[in-house]
Amino acid sequence: MALTGLDIYKLLPKTNCKKCGSPTCLAFAMKLAMKKASLDECPYVSKEARLALEQASRPPIATITLSGKKDKIEIGGETVLFRHEKTFYHQTAIAISVDDRLNKKEAESRIKVIEEISFERVGQHISIDAIALLNNSLSGEKFLETLEEILSVSGKPLVLVSNNPDTIESALKKILGGNGVSPLIYPLDASNIEDMCKIARAYNVPLALKAPDLDSLDRLSQRAIEYGVEKLVLSPSSKSLNEMLNDFTMIRRAALKKNYRPFGYPIVAVLTDSDRYRLVGEACIAIAKYASLIILDTLDKEVLLPLITLRQNIYTDPQRPVTVEPRLYKFGAVDKNSPVLVTTNFSLTYFTVAPEIEASKIPSYLLVTDSEGMSVLTAWAAEKFTAEIISDTMKRFNVEEMVSHKNIIIPGYVAILSGKLEDISGWKVLVGPKEATGIPKYLKEIWR
Ligand code: SF4
Repeated sequence: MALTGLDIYKLLPKTNCKKCGSPTCLAFAMKLAMKKASLDECPYVSKEARLALEQASRPPIATITLSGKKDKIEIGGETVLFRHEKTFYHQTAIAISVDDRLNKKEAESRIKVIEEISFERVGQHISIDAIALLNNSLSGEKFLETLEEILSVSGKPLVLVSNNPDTIESALKKILGGNGVSPLIYPLDASNIEDMCKIARAYNVPLALKAPDLDSLDRLSQRAIEYGVEKLVLSPSSKSLNEMLNDFTMIRRAALKKNYRPFGYPIVAVLTDSDRYRLVGEACIAIAKYASLIILDTLDKEVLLPLITLRQNIYTDPQRPVTVEPRLYKFGAVDKNSPVLVTTNFSLTYFTVAPEIEASKIPSYLLVTDSEGMSVLTAWAAEKFTAEIISDTMKRFNVEEMVSHKNIIIPGYVAILSGKLEDISGWKVLVGPKEATGIPKYLKEIWR
């Protein structure tokens, strides 16, 4: 739990000497709580107070970075249990596995498919975040061969899954070499924890800890911390969906509510159900509560798309709506006679209106105003979608020069703006349909 200004004040010398640049110790404590000052600015902080403050200022869940040759992901680093309390910072990363028992051709083709999986939703391009290489062959040689295949095609971050420390070490030697690559290493049980800790420390890579229950995971995490491994990821091998939900929630609560360090790390879930519906259900629960990384062995887009959609909904900052750039968008081969419609820059609004304009098959302009990411009615109520704003946006993007008419179509829900907009812009205002689905019919009727 983050310390308040008053908590910090109690640990300061309380002499108000002003050496830190603040008029009082309390003012300095407030700045520290807001992370606007550094403890080093006070020369009189005692060793004990410094230790207590440093421990308390450690984030409750560590942020772990996995870096590939090209891409990088951060997992963990969350500070709240529920998104509405603040926001979540790092969305659940999705990794797809590659089994080292595949022959060269099969491995190559699977890696290519993983590379090519890509979705576009509300203007965001989404692809698979990482590749997990599984040492199911138990052969170090096969593991390295498949790793080579992956490295020749992909720059994504990697998860190296093997119980053999020598195999992991050989793989690390192959892919490190000062190029900033940092994979997650993932042993499958606690039998070789000491060797794996040594490797994690020597190569400065994150280490996943797998245990059959939370007590064992707790002990394992404490041992890894004693070995000096700071970059950890937790992998409880829950036996049922219920148990997984319970385990993940207990870990997250212990980290956030009790500041319990052995559980203050991101969670990884390995999901292998062969039934696609159950797999989607399990992965949805893992994404919602509280996996930071999920490893799947499927390439099925019908499984991946719902997961990516759910993830996007959960990990969108509720205080910063997804937006599109305010500007004049063109649909089709527009000319001087094309209609001009106007809407706001809330991404969902734009991506609801845009396909309907396309469906009308009438080349059109869509003027998008800056409504700070609000939808039409909300923006109107908040005075972010007014006649003045629309008129200014028309001037800003030279709408007058693009067309030879002076007609602008506003959303039906804000018909009330038409009089004022006509007065200040000098354009004729046409009131469009209330719902975007009415756009094709409306355009066909009024723009022929
Ligand atoms: Fe207080 Fe330290 Fe600042 Fe002096 S330098 S006012 S003791 S916080």
